[in-house]
Amino acid sequence: MIPHHNETNQKKMENGSEKWGFQGNEKLNVAMASAVTVRGILMKLFESVNKDDPRPTVALGHGDPSAFQCFRTATVAEDAIVDSVRSAKYNGYSPSVGILPARRAIADYLSRDLPYELSPDDIYITVGCIQAIEVTLTVLARPGANVLLPRPGFPYYESRAASINLEVRHFDLNPEKGWEVDLQSVEALADENTVAMAIINPGNPCGSVYTHQHLKKIAETARKLGILVIADEVYHHLTFGSNPFVPMGAFGSIVPVITLGSISKRWMVPGWRLGWIVTSDPNGILRKLGIVECITGCVNMSSEPATFIQGAVPHILEKTSEDFFSKVIDILKEASYICYDRIKENPYITCPNKPEGSMFVMAKLNLPLLEDINDDMEFCLKMAKEESVIILPGVAVGMKNWLRISFGIDPTALEDGFGRIKAFCERHAKKQ
Ligand SMILES: *Cc1c(COP(=O)(O)O)cnc(C)c1O
Repeated sequence: MIPHHNETNQKKMENGSEKWGFQGNEKLNVAMASAVTVRGILMKLFESVNKDDPRPTVALGHGDPSAFQCFRTATVAEDAIVDSVRSAKYNGYSPSVGILPARRAIADYLSRDLPYELSPDDIYITVGCIQAIEVTLTVLARPGANVLLPRPGFPYYESRAASINLEVRHFDLNPEKGWEVDLQSVEALADENTVAMAIINPGNPCGSVYTHQHLKKIAETARKLGILVIADEVYHHLTFGSNPFVPMGAFGSIVPVITLGSISKRWMVPGWRLGWIVTSDPNGILRKLGIVECITGCVNMSSEPATFIQGAVPHILEKTSEDFFSKVIDILKEASYICYDRIKENPYITCPNKPEGSMFVMAKLNLPLLEDINDDMEFCLKMAKEESVIILPGVAVGMKNWLRISFGIDPTALEDGFGRIKAFCERHAKKQ
């Protein structure tokens, strides 16, 4: 007798082209198509650069300043890694939640800004903030659930949600009001299947920094709706305007907060892949509702950052000097002024809000003033081709006909880039 599964295989073989018994997971295709991925667009832009242009390419598209000498990480941090390797204490596997000294150090480091103490049990070490997002969305993705995400936002959330069948609904950020969350649209979107809303503060892509008052209103709205807040604070303390950084966890007694972060941006080491998930929840609601158990289960199924990187964490967090942080802030502040001033001088783009945090700013294209450019994608493609300047079109972050400009680069290169942007716009201006 031929067993049943062989019959099925036989059918496939007879079906001509379908010779194989496997194919790609269509759900992933949906995920990749549903969010126009930043990486994909940037790759296309870099490919469009004219190879014969003798000028260096100015990359204002992505947020990785680590290549610039002026943003080199603290020596203390580099030494901590070397010492960690040399100690031979961190050559083994790590527990799936991360090693205890690192979790304790992260708890202490984040507690400095909170009205209560975090415990090491509130901390889960992840492979950058990216895995923190992945785990958090996976934990929340019960069938039928939906999450509320900001627009504009960070498209990784959308791609990840699509790949696990978690429904996404978008609330708007208001450019006229410092890119604050439109809380009315949050209330209008939420229903009995809404599990969480996410905020990114300091903001990518807007460079916004929310006030204490606004964060409290977000907490109160989430509480009223009975949903938790996911606070992406990967740019924690990268602020250079009038609003200081306030962690969402400060409102953890109003609403349970899951805080996501990493050392990638504050220490300018995104390649070290060291991040965290924090349950900022002094009332223990997340534990009671089984969320804590789910997070533990979820990290049990995946991998951790290299143990020697974790071994260096206490030293990095405790010993990095204020000098390093303030030097970085000074450069970012100078770069943010260059952006704001150069955009203000350029009638073809408008910036409704001076950036005060992170390393990004959103600017709106004044398309009616441009001759042969129909949308943001075309603007960025021609810019790459003619001026070797890479800018992310707003469509990639949910805002068509806007631009996201990263100023996490050497200020001299930034000036050069804005000079080329001006020349480009003037060349493509509508003739009167
Ligand atoms: C860069 C970034 C991340 C990813 O951080 P890693 O630590 O590099 O994984 C997550 N969220 C936002 C908003 C970011 O800009």
